[in-house]
Amino acid sequence: MRETLQQLIRLQRTDDAIVAMQRRIDELDSHLDGAKAALDVAQQAVAAAHGVRQEAQATTHRYEIELAEAEAEIRKLDGQLGKASSNKEYGAIQLKIGHIKAVSGKIEERILMSMDVVEEKERIEEAAKTAQGEAEAALRAAEGKVEAQRQGLAEELVAMRTARDELAAAVIPEKLKLYERIRGGNRKSGTAVVAVHGEYCQGCQMAIRPQDVTELVKGDAIVLCRTCQRILVLEE
Ligand SMILES: [Zn+2]
Repeated sequence: MRETLQQLIRLQRTDDAIVAMQRRIDELDSHLDGAKAALDVAQQAVAAAHGVRQEAQATTHRYEIELAEAEAEIRKLDGQLGKASSNKEYGAIQLKIGHIKAVSGKIEERILMSMDVVEEKERIEEAAKTAQGEAEAALRAAEGKVEAQRQGLAEELVAMRTARDELAAAVIPEKLKLYERIRGGNRKSGTAVVAVHGEYCQGCQMAIRPQDVTELVKGDAIVLCRTCQRILVLEE
């Protein structure tokens, strides 16, 4: 029975290692969280910069329309000058033209300033796009790393399962069944074999009866914890 107990201990360790490995594999994707969040921020920054740049361009365009309208008005008034019937009317038209020219001069200034703003916003948008490209590259690199890790761990897992199958095949079927049944009943921890430490079960922390401890020391039979029903083994 000592041999069986040793086998079950090894089986339990292997099963624990398989569960831990599976968890490591499942958690790999969370390694990408940081890079994904960074890309998200970079994409939002590009969208925001794009909007600001478009707005600046729209402002420039509005001024250009205003300027074109003022210039059309000046041309119209220029045409009227030749048809003026009096000096007074001529003077009034000239005054109007002078006023509109002053206004269009101001509009031209605004257009120039607005074009500077557009250039600045374009630079900001370009910088945001560069940062987004870098964030995308960082995510791809992280994904590549995770994929390589996943493959490595998956190979390890296959090897562990093979070792597990070999271990299980060597156990007396009836005892293996007992082990599997207890493990199935403790789905959360997956623990079927627990150590006894200072006469306490390490599975449930309850005291072990003296006669059970004696049985364990003799090592002739499998002893179950009377509280948690797990297979007890003496701590080495
Ligand atoms: Zn117990």
